[in-house]
Amino acid sequence: MVIEDEESLCALLEYNLTREGYKVSLVSDGDEALYAIEDEKPDLILLDWMLPHVSGIEICRQIRARSEVKDTPVIMLTARGEEDDRIRGLETGADDYLTKPFSMTELLARIRAVLRRSRPTLAGDVATFGDIILDRQAHRVRRAERDLHLGPTEFKLLDVLMQRPGRVFSREQLLDLVWGRDVYVEIRTVDVHVGRLRKAINRRGDRDPIRTVRSAGYALDETYAATPARQAARG
Ligand code: CA
Repeated sequence: MVIEDEESLCALLEYNLTREGYKVSLVSDGDEALYAIEDEKPDLILLDWMLPHVSGIEICRQIRARSEVKDTPVIMLTARGEEDDRIRGLETGADDYLTKPFSMTELLARIRAVLRRSRPTLAGDVATFGDIILDRQAHRVRRAERDLHLGPTEFKLLDVLMQRPGRVFSREQLLDLVWGRDVYVEIRTVDVHVGRLRKAINRRGDRDPIRTVRSAGYALDETYAATPARQAARG
C-alpha cells in the first residue's frame, strides 16, 4: 500500500511496483489511510511523512497500536535532510526510511529486505493450514497425521505459501523468496517444483490445497483450510 499525496510519485510507484509483481493500493489522504490499512491489511506500507490531515508519523504510531495490523512493515518516505524526522520515524516503529528523491532500484531493494525480515521464520515456529502442519524447527511437514517427505526446495516453497494463505505469488516472487535474488533460475523451474510439492502432499483423491492462478502464479486455496472435510480426516 502506498500512502502518498504527491500524484506523480504515486503514479511512478504504482507503475514500478506493479511491474515487479506487487499488487498496489494507493491512498492519498491521512484520514483515509487507517481505514484502508485495516480494511486491506497490506503486506507492506510505503508511508509519506507529510500528508494532508494526519501525518505519516501519526499513522505509523496508530498502526503499531492496533492489534490486527501492528506487525505490518512500514517504510517511511520523506524529504531530504529531515534527519530528526528519520530518528523519530524509526522510534515510532517504521522498519526503514527513504529520503526523497530515491531511485526505484533502491526502493525495491529496501522493500525486499523489509519483507524478508518481517517473515516469521523464527526457530520453533509452526505453521498450520487446514490439516497441514509445517514445523520449521524440526523441518517436518504433516498432513492429516501423515508425515510428508519434501525436498528442501519444496519445503521452502510450502513455507512461503503458508506464510500468506490466499495470497497469489507470481513465479518471479517465488523465485525471489525460495531461491533468492542472486541465483539465476529459469522461471519454469517454479512450475516444476510446485508440481513436485503437489505430488508430495497429495495422495490420490486428496483435495489439492494449491491453486494455480492463470497467468498470475500460485496460492494456497483459502477455502481448503475452511473445509469440513478435514474434520472427517481428523476423526
Ligand atoms: Ca507529501
